[in-house]
Amino acid sequence: MHSCCAPCSTYTLEFLSEYADVTVLFANSNIHPKAEYEKRALVQKEFIDNFNEKTGNKVGFIEDEYNPASFFQKVKGLEEEKEGGARCTSCFQMRLDIVAKKAQDLGYDYFGSALTLSPKKNSQLINTLGLEIQEIFDVKYLPSDFKKNNGYSRSIEMCKEYDVYRQCYCGCIFAAMDQGIDLNEYK
Ligand code: SF4
Ligand code: SF4
Repeated sequence: MHSCCAPCSTYTLEFLSEYADVTVLFANSNIHPKAEYEKRALVQKEFIDNFNEKTGNKVGFIEDEYNPASFFQKVKGLEEEKEGGARCTSCFQMRLDIVAKKAQDLGYDYFGSALTLSPKKNSQLINTLGLEIQEIFDVKYLPSDFKKNNGYSRSIEMCKEYDVYRQCYCGCIFAAMDQGIDLNEYK
């Protein structure tokens, strides 16, 4: 399961771990600056540790390499797109590709993304991309819309319960600039 920071993984793990053994892959070279990437990776790992301790689950955690150049390459020419536009489609694709390959290499049955928990993310688009990507790799995509059935509100409750840091921009420098975020403050 791909996740880009802890909040979307909260309810996703609570729901999925009832049915499956899950490993979270933190593959997010889109996140800028590096300090923010490191913070989100750390908070993701800490949440999984606390979740496992509290529930007795054994959710795994893998951190992929941080390679921002690959993200900038992938979204070249799409920098000016609004959040939710073509830049985000490429960004979802990049991360779903990585999680599909990792799931295939490790012999998992499915790959998927916790991104569909976010009300700001287009689950239909993410599912369409996932189903396309499953044609390339030898692993199935798990279509989802984790925000449904109160998934999103449960994630907010769980963030409070586990004292999880919730970031205020999606991740890339373009989204941060659009929102007028002071990245020096983040550093
Ligand atoms: S969609 Fe947003 S809140 Fe959800 S995991 Fe990604 S960065 Fe975090
Ligand atoms: S706004 Fe979010 S999903 Fe879109 S390109 Fe930036 S990091 Fe990726």
